Amino acid sequence: MKYVVVSGGVISGIGKGVIASSVGLLFKSHGYRVTSIKIDPYMNIDAGTMSPLEHGEVFVLKDGGEADLDLGNYERYLNVTLTRDHNLTTGKIYKHVIEKERRGDYLGKTVQIVPHLTNAIQDWLETVSKIPVDGSDESPEICIIELGGTVGDIESMPFVEALRQFQFRVGADNFALVHVSLVPVIHGELKTKPTQAAIRELRSLGLTPDIIACRCTEKLSRAIMEKISMFCHVGPDQVLGVHDVSSTYHVPVMLEELKLMSYFSQRLHLDKVTPERQAI
Ligand code: ADP
Repeated sequence: MKYVVVSGGVISGIGKGVIASSVGLLFKSHGYRVTSIKIDPYMNIDAGTMSPLEHGEVFVLKDGGEADLDLGNYERYLNVTLTRDHNLTTGKIYKHVIEKERRGDYLGKTVQIVPHLTNAIQDWLETVSKIPVDGSDESPEICIIELGGTVGDIESMPFVEALRQFQFRVGADNFALVHVSLVPVIHGELKTKPTQAAIRELRSLGLTPDIIACRCTEKLSRAIMEKISMFCHVGPDQVLGVHDVSSTYHVPVMLEELKLMSYFSQRLHLDKVTPERQAI
C-alpha cells in the first residue's frame, strides 16, 4: 500500500480537496485501485451536527455516515463508495481511545497523546485504507489521505505527529507528501514568502514535502518556481503551479501535464506508470 498525504499551509480553503481527488484520479487512470481518507481535525464526531451555513452541506455516505463534502468529491472522482470510517475527526479518535481506556485496554498505563492517540490514528489509517471501496473484494493499492485545516494549527498537531511517525511505520518508499501552498499576487507581483514560511513550519514538525503544489490566481513563471525550489530545499520538478481554472475537473489534466505521475513513479517505485500509458 502506498500512501499519498495532501496537507496545506498558509490558509485553509486553497484547494487541498480538489488536489487530493485529482491526484487520486491520476493513480486510478494509471490502473491502480485507489481509496481515500479525509482527516478533519475538529472536535465534532462528524459533520452531521454542523451548520451548513458555516461548513457547507453535509455529504451522506451509503452507510449513513455524515461527512465532509470532500468525501463526495472523492466518490465522484474515483468512482468509489466510502464508509463513515473514511472520515476521521478529532472527536472520533478521542472517543475511540477513551472507550478503550474505559474498557481497561491500556492495562493501567497513563494514556497520552503520544503514543496512545498517535498510535490509534496510525492504526485507523492502516485499517481503513485496506477496506475495498470499488465494489470488488480487493484491497486498494493507493490511499490518498487529506489532512484538513492548516499545518501548524493546534488542532491538527496530533495528526501531524501521527503522520510523521507513519512515514517510518510504512517505509519511505510507501509514503509521499503533497503540501498545498498559496502564492498570492500583491500589486501584480507573485509572492513566495508565505510558501517559504509554510514549508519551514512543515519541516519543523518533521514532515518533508515531496511536492509543493502552489495555488495561485495566475500561472507561475519559471523564475518563481525556481525561487520556491531554492528557498524551500526541493528540486524544481517538485514545485507545481496549480493556477485557477474555470472548472476544477481541469486540475487532474494540469497535474498530468506537469508530469506528477512520472515524479511519483520514481519516488514511490510504481510499476504501472510507464511513458506509453496515456492517462485520462
Ligand atoms: P480545501 O480542501 O483546501 O478546503 P477545496 O479543495 O475545497 O479546498 O477548494 C476550495 C474552493 O476552491 C472550492 O470551491 C474549489 O472548487 C475551488 N478550487 C480549488 N482548486 C481550484 C482551481 N485550481 N481553480 C479554481 N478553483 C479552485
